[in-house]
Amino acid sequence: MMNNKEKLTFTGEVKEALGQIKEKKCCKRARENADKFLFENALIDKSCFACDECRGAFLREIFLKCGSVNAPDKRGHLEMKMLNEMNADEMCIFLREMGLEAKVSRRRGKYVVYFKDGDTIFHVLSLLGAQKCAFDLVNTQIEKNIRNNVNRVNNCEMANLQKSANATGRQLEAIKELERDDRFENLPEKLLYTASLRRDNPDLSLTDLASIHEPPITKSCVNHRLEKIIKIAFREE
Ligand SMILES: [Zn+2]
Repeated sequence: MMNNKEKLTFTGEVKEALGQIKEKKCCKRARENADKFLFENALIDKSCFACDECRGAFLREIFLKCGSVNAPDKRGHLEMKMLNEMNADEMCIFLREMGLEAKVSRRRGKYVVYFKDGDTIFHVLSLLGAQKCAFDLVNTQIEKNIRNNVNRVNNCEMANLQKSANATGRQLEAIKELERDDRFENLPEKLLYTASLRRDNPDLSLTDLASIHEPPITKSCVNHRLEKIIKIAFREE
């Protein structure tokens, strides 16, 4: 027999978890009330909410009948499809009383009450009673954030490498320019030394280039000399 669990969507997982919750009598009544609200055009009968968990049970029935939620690795989205506008409005008021701000959009003749915000979706799943799924969602989002941050750092390193490659390129251009005009050998002695080392070691970083000078000089000194070579080559001074 096939393992059904492997085929379940995230919505399926949430609904499976909700189906296993044991309920008190009052909570069962709240769920029947949710059915009347959904399919018989009744208003939400708030007098049916007897215990602290009744509202969650009411919401649970709504989600089981007409709800869905995006998988944790997708963008945040949890929705409940209502048959008419009145139900959607009534639902929004009910949710707001629980501290949840929902939005409504019309899609194919139905009114979709939905949430996009990850924290709110976590809160809704917890209220429904799908705690494990709520934590799966948050964990996946945290992992995704970490991955994005790592990528951002990598991009930043790439930009720095690019920048130093561009700088080296300009130094080598300057050296070529001086050679073309037979001015290379006329450079002041220290500049000639640094320019020769750069020409022969185009791949070295400034720090490494500084260290192969004899005697070694500082990185900022190398940088200063190279700037000067560029200025002379392009006759900027
Ligand atoms: Zn109850």
